[in-house]
Amino acid sequence: MRKDLISIDDLTREDIERILDRAESFAEVSGREIKKVPTLRGRTVVNLFYESSTRTSSSFEIAAKRLSADLVNIKSAGSAVDKGESLKDTVQTLSAYDPAAIVIRAPHAGAAQMVARWSPAAVVNAGDGKHEHPTQALLDVYTLRRRLGSLEGVKIWIVGDVLHSRVARSDILAFTRMGCAVTVCGPPTLIPREIETLGCEVRWSLDGVGDADVIYALRMQNERMKGSFVPSLREYAARYQIDSRRLAPSQLLMHPGPVNRGVELAGEVVDSPQALIVQQVESGVVVRMAVLYELLAGGGGGSESARFTRPGAAPEPQPA
Ligand code: ASP
Repeated sequence: MRKDLISIDDLTREDIERILDRAESFAEVSGREIKKVPTLRGRTVVNLFYESSTRTSSSFEIAAKRLSADLVNIKSAGSAVDKGESLKDTVQTLSAYDPAAIVIRAPHAGAAQMVARWSPAAVVNAGDGKHEHPTQALLDVYTLRRRLGSLEGVKIWIVGDVLHSRVARSDILAFTRMGCAVTVCGPPTLIPREIETLGCEVRWSLDGVGDADVIYALRMQNERMKGSFVPSLREYAARYQIDSRRLAPSQLLMHPGPVNRGVELAGEVVDSPQALIVQQVESGVVVRMAVLYELLAGGGGGSESARFTRPGAAPEPQPA
């Protein structure tokens, strides 16, 4: 019984598949000239972003608008957070608007969970520190399922700064749940201890990456690093950068963005036909529509009724 989406751990494989199927139905809506359904008419969605974001904030905004919700966008810069207001007080203030959902991004692991405790609204974790980014993982699974059909047995290498990456954590959980074999790869200083307990293998070099069906590259999360984790970016790139020598024509390439060209990826592979990076961004809108739909319209509006545990309970989206 859940009202929120905080972690991929909240979801079974059936839940994930249901959300992806729902996203497929929204992809059809997105292909129409008028890309709107009335599902959330009269409901309010608050986007609360305490950290920089381009893709996640814009796609949640479009998703809420395409579901006809009223939307409030709050960024920490320019809000009362700048004046020292605490997260709890901000959430209490926003509760005055009786939001149906709060989408929160914050630099602290656990922030979304706290908001979910303070607010009766459905809370969606849009990235909390280095903990999790569940909607990124759902859109990654959606993108890959669209491309490959089934994900059963697909070999995925996640390469780079796994230590500071919330995307890596959510992706390992989501991809393994869908039947993929996940390997994480990076310098030992950037691989968290005991990451294998999430169900992946660990490699410290790219030897063997030729066996992967998909290479998923990660950005160096400099903003989360205290101190130096690699001798130099140049040396890191020499050992771990994915370039056209390391990416075979049969392999697919993914990245959550933003890409640092010339560090984790060479420019030529970003622009290659194997790259799914633009498709990942496109998927963000329909997958986030599906998540808002599941939480708010799949059985009773952000209360204790279980969207993620009632397969097939939700009606099909209707055109506006
Ligand atoms: N956009 C992703 C995130 O917010 C990945 C990144 O920033 O590197 O975690």
